[in-house]
Amino acid sequence: MPERRFAVFGHPVAHSLSPAMHNANFRALGLDAVYERRDVVEADLAANLGDFRSGGVNCTIPLKRAAYDICDRLDESARRFGVVNTLRFDAGGGLTGFNTDGIGFLRDLEESLGCSPAGRSVLVFGCGGAGRAIAITCACAGARVVALANRTPERMTALAAELADRAPGVPVRQTSGDAQAWTAACRDADLVVQCTSLGLHDGDPFPLGADAFHRGQKVYDLVYTTPVTPIMRAAQAAGAATQNGLGMLIHQGAASFTIWTGLQADLAAMRAALTTGR
Ligand code: NAP
Repeated sequence: MPERRFAVFGHPVAHSLSPAMHNANFRALGLDAVYERRDVVEADLAANLGDFRSGGVNCTIPLKRAAYDICDRLDESARRFGVVNTLRFDAGGGLTGFNTDGIGFLRDLEESLGCSPAGRSVLVFGCGGAGRAIAITCACAGARVVALANRTPERMTALAAELADRAPGVPVRQTSGDAQAWTAACRDADLVVQCTSLGLHDGDPFPLGADAFHRGQKVYDLVYTTPVTPIMRAAQAAGAATQNGLGMLIHQGAASFTIWTGLQADLAAMRAALTTGR
């Protein structure tokens, strides 16, 4: 049995890449550790934690709120989002909750596109779980304005209200749900963050007009299963700089690793595990 055991709990599809990425990092650093995935339902969350006291646990969909609720202490990152993706077993007992999604996005945005949301007009396209995290992150990172667009208006309205609460100084615009309005909102933004699940599957609709993008824009697509998504392709054709979500996945995992161990992760090993399978 390895000295330290780590795991991700939640929906299998949402965490399918995490073990390969973390185990590659452990090998690169010479650690006697293993990271596994465990399909856990909310009622069994607490009972499953015991096996991983030597390491740590990530929680993903649909357990992030339940993970928040069982913590003894919450880091500021967890309080900011109201959900937890990283659980740390503390030396004196007890469980501290963190959220590394925001820092993962900000680090990769800086690394891959050389920018931050600060001072920028940001369009967050998609107001599901990921869109909510990105919108809060951008607003708290000093975006000049955050525009929201979502197919279901109620979700967008709820997120706008939450942003007004969490980042009161940042203007929030809502874009009602048709392709023409989304295209105009996209054109107006310096930074577009694609947070819908569109692009995950071949044949997904492309919901924006051809004039949505232009030179000078940064376009970040959270989808990480496709190197170049349809939105990235359209943005590249218009001269915009683009990036997919693989780096965010790696950086949020690396940030969890540092929380658990105090060590810096081997980012290159994590990336190689996801891109070449090694
Ligand atoms: P989610 O909570 O289920 O939200 C899905 C979003 O996609 C909602 O905004 C939904 O709009 C929208 N959507 C779905 N089908 C659509 C369509 N046909 N037209 C327009 N909008 C549509 O999922 P999530 O957790 O936010 O994840 C969203 C994406 O982000 C996924 O691809 C996921 O893999 C990716 N992600 C990446 C990372 C990373 O580290 N790179 C992290 C988290 C998530 P409605 O509200 O109208 O349903």
